[in-house]
Parts: sequence; structure tokens; C-alpha cells
Amino acid sequence: VAHHPEAVDDLVAKLKAGGHRTTTARRAVLEAILEAGDGHLTADEVAEMTHREHPDIHLSTVYRTLDSLCEAGLLSPARFADRPGTYHLADDHHHHAVCSRCGTVLLLADDVFAAVTVRLAEEHGFHAEPTHITIPGLCATCNSATEA
Ligand SMILES: [Zn+2]
Ligand SMILES: [Zn+2]
Repeated sequence: VAHHPEAVDDLVAKLKAGGHRTTTARRAVLEAILEAGDGHLTADEVAEMTHREHPDIHLSTVYRTLDSLCEAGLLSPARFADRPGTYHLADDHHHHAVCSRCGTVLLLADDVFAAVTVRLAEEHGFHAEPTHITIPGLCATCNSATEA
């Protein structure tokens, strides 16, 4: 779940294979996302990272590039309730548990909904494809504070 063995060259190759243009900005944005690993970067964070190596790439270009990389299927937007939207690699399948009190975000494995998927198929004939689900609740720390 957590690791991205992919190099930026693989991602750029995917982009090309899909018939999309590969620009310096696209490459720089993909590099920033890869560098963040598990991190779900906001557009501003991506802009900050790309700006370090490519001061000529403007914020508006970064926004547009993020959109086109999402359209190309390489990135997915990831929203957490009341926070600014973030981006991560589209083929990094995972979910999150988010603490409603302190905002801690846990990374959950893709198979965490396996039982739900089976049940939906058996009871409803529904083929579930859960992607990037966030489950609200209390983290261990906040929960034990509540019980104390
Ligand atoms: Zn995520
Ligand atoms: Zn908490």
C-alpha cells in the first residue's frame, strides 16, 4: 500500500502510452507526488515542491497539470472532509480512517473492505469497487481520552 516502486520514468511512459503529451510541468508534478510517498499533497504543496527545482512553472500551470494528470488517469483527487483537496497516484489503492477529533489520518490497506465487497455481491449482486474511502471515528488516543 505504502510504497511506490514506480519511478517517474514509468509514469511518464504511461502518459505517453495513453497518447498524452509529456511536458516539463507534468514530469515535475509527478516527481513531487512520488517524492511525497504516502503524503497526499495539496495543489499548493505540489506547487511549492515543483517551484524549488522549476521556478519558472507557475501556480496556475501546476493546477492545470494536476487536472490533466487526473483526466489522464495517473492521479486521483483525494478529499478529506473539511480540508483542501489533495492528490495521489491513481493506482495506489488504499483507504483511510480519519479521527473526527484530532484529525489524525490512518492509512488502511485496500482489502479492508473485502468482507463488505463479498457481502454486497452475495446479498445484492452488486460489484463493489471501493476507492479511497474515508471512515470517520476516533483514533486510539482520542478514544482512550473519552473513556478515561
Ligand atoms: Zn489516500
Ligand atoms: Zn484523534
